[in-house]
Amino acid sequence: MPGPGKPRIEAVRGDITREQVEAIVNAANSALRGGGGVDGAIHRAAGPRLAEAGAALAPCQPGDAKATPAFDLDPPVRHVIHTVGPVWHGGGQGEPGILESCYRRCLEIGTALGVKSIAFPAISTGVYGYPPALAADVAVQTLRATPTRVEVIRLVAFDDFTYQLYLDRLT
Ligand code: ADP
Repeated sequence: MPGPGKPRIEAVRGDITREQVEAIVNAANSALRGGGGVDGAIHRAAGPRLAEAGAALAPCQPGDAKATPAFDLDPPVRHVIHTVGPVWHGGGQGEPGILESCYRRCLEIGTALGVKSIAFPAISTGVYGYPPALAADVAVQTLRATPTRVEVIRLVAFDDFTYQLYLDRLT
C-alpha cells in the first residue's frame, strides 16, 4: 500500500449534510445525542438511529472523536465522525490544542476507515464561541500537518465570512 500522500484541501460554502463525501465530521457535544447548529442538522438528516449509536459511544472528551454509520444520509456519505470541540474561554485554557486534536483525530479516524473524502464544519465557531479566524488557522495548519490517506478534505463554511477565511489560508 502506498504511504500517505498530500490531500487536496478545499473550501466550500454550504450545508455539510449536502456534501458528496464518504465521511462528514460533526461538531458534537460529549453526550453524542444531538444538539443545535450543525449537530442538529446532521442528526435530522441521519435520522434517530444516529443518536442511539452516539449515545452508545458516549461520553466523548473534548479533542477526541468517534465514528458512527451515517444511517439515513444519502450515499456516498457512509460515516459520521463526531468530535467535541473546546468551549472558548479566552484562549488560555488549552483551547487551541484541543481544537487541533479534533482535526487530527477526525483525519486519523477517516484514514483508519479507509475513506477518500471527508468534510469538516467550522468546529467550535458557533455556540462554543471560538473566534472564527483563529479556528480557521488551526484547521488549515493541522490538516496540512497530519499524515493521511484521505485524498480530499473539504472545509465547509456555513457563511461567507468563514468561507473567505478559508480561501485566504488555502491560496
Ligand atoms: P459548536 O458548538 O462546535 O460551536 P455549532 O454547530 O454551534 O458548533 O457551530 C459550528 C459551525 O457550524 C458554525 O460556523 C456554524 O455556522 C456552522 N453550521 C451550522 N449549521 C451548519 C450546517 N448545516 N452545515 C455546515 N456548517 C454549519
